[in-house]
Amino acid sequence: MTQRIALLAALAGALALSACGEREQADATAEGGVVNLYTARHYDSDLILYERFTEQTGIRVNRIEGNADQLLARMQAEGEASPADVFITADAGALWRVQNAGLLQPVQSETLNAAIPANLRDPEGRWFGFSRRARIVAYDQARVQPADVDTYEDIASPRFRGQLCVRSADSVYNLSLVGALIEAWGPDRARQWVEGVVANMARPPEGGDRDQIRAVGAGVCQIALTNSYYYIRLASGDDAADREITTRVKLAFPSLDGQGAHVNISGAGVAANAPNRANAIRFLEYLTSAEVQTYVSQNNNEYPASPNVPVPAPVDAYADFQAHPMPVSAYGPRQAEALAMMSAAGWR
Ligand code: FE
Repeated sequence: MTQRIALLAALAGALALSACGEREQADATAEGGVVNLYTARHYDSDLILYERFTEQTGIRVNRIEGNADQLLARMQAEGEASPADVFITADAGALWRVQNAGLLQPVQSETLNAAIPANLRDPEGRWFGFSRRARIVAYDQARVQPADVDTYEDIASPRFRGQLCVRSADSVYNLSLVGALIEAWGPDRARQWVEGVVANMARPPEGGDRDQIRAVGAGVCQIALTNSYYYIRLASGDDAADREITTRVKLAFPSLDGQGAHVNISGAGVAANAPNRANAIRFLEYLTSAEVQTYVSQNNNEYPASPNVPVPAPVDAYADFQAHPMPVSAYGPRQAEALAMMSAAGWR
């Protein structure tokens, strides 16, 4: 990013007489102001990102934290007076809820469009992914062969009756996955899959994805559905017991219709009533820069959104898989249908 700013400054100098050059120069020398982030991410490592942004731009960063639904409700209550400039959360389904409530505005930015593949951002520019995760399978390598779980159909097959651990239906991760299956297969086949998953449950859903991986380690189930970064955190984190589990429990990347694993994003968009719109766009451009994609991957164990950004350690050890090319914007509109289908099948 520092390099890019330097390049922009040089360009602005060289092109000072053109309108474009003047605008870039104005941006590069703009002093400060603020940007107000409403963020569902609360990682200590993100604070360093915000400090760097302030160092590079002079723009102060204010943070309001909460879960995605709390922040959505807050923005709705604040209405046109909302101080929110940027909304940040995990999962395209959660971003869609905010978009669908009319709380995000379209942004056209060559920088953002160049940084992020088209299938990982809203076609109208209301949100942009800055990191990727895959929703895949952790399996007990003593009892399961990788070939047993190389498709999403396998997860619901009779091979795993009573042998699957999975979190609840109201998890947006599961809603987005089932939404993607409805998109790919149509509702009838997706419903059969959901019914197979319920039949395969080793226990009623409880806990988060890490708990499902640990349950595989404890022999409660042979396979678990999980987001990739949870497994990578257990494998590379400080807890010796968790690391030991990942010597026995491995990660499989099932393929959807031979096109790759189901992928989701963390992303951000500019708030509909952003009082600091220009700063908000600069923040998004910063968030999607190669520097920040790398940093987020290192610290949060997600994958960079752009295929042009090398995957850093320790995530690189789990990066050799094909990602399904489905636009992540397809997930959100299917959420209600997915939840109804899951509830009807008894996925609580
Ligand atoms: Fe998560």
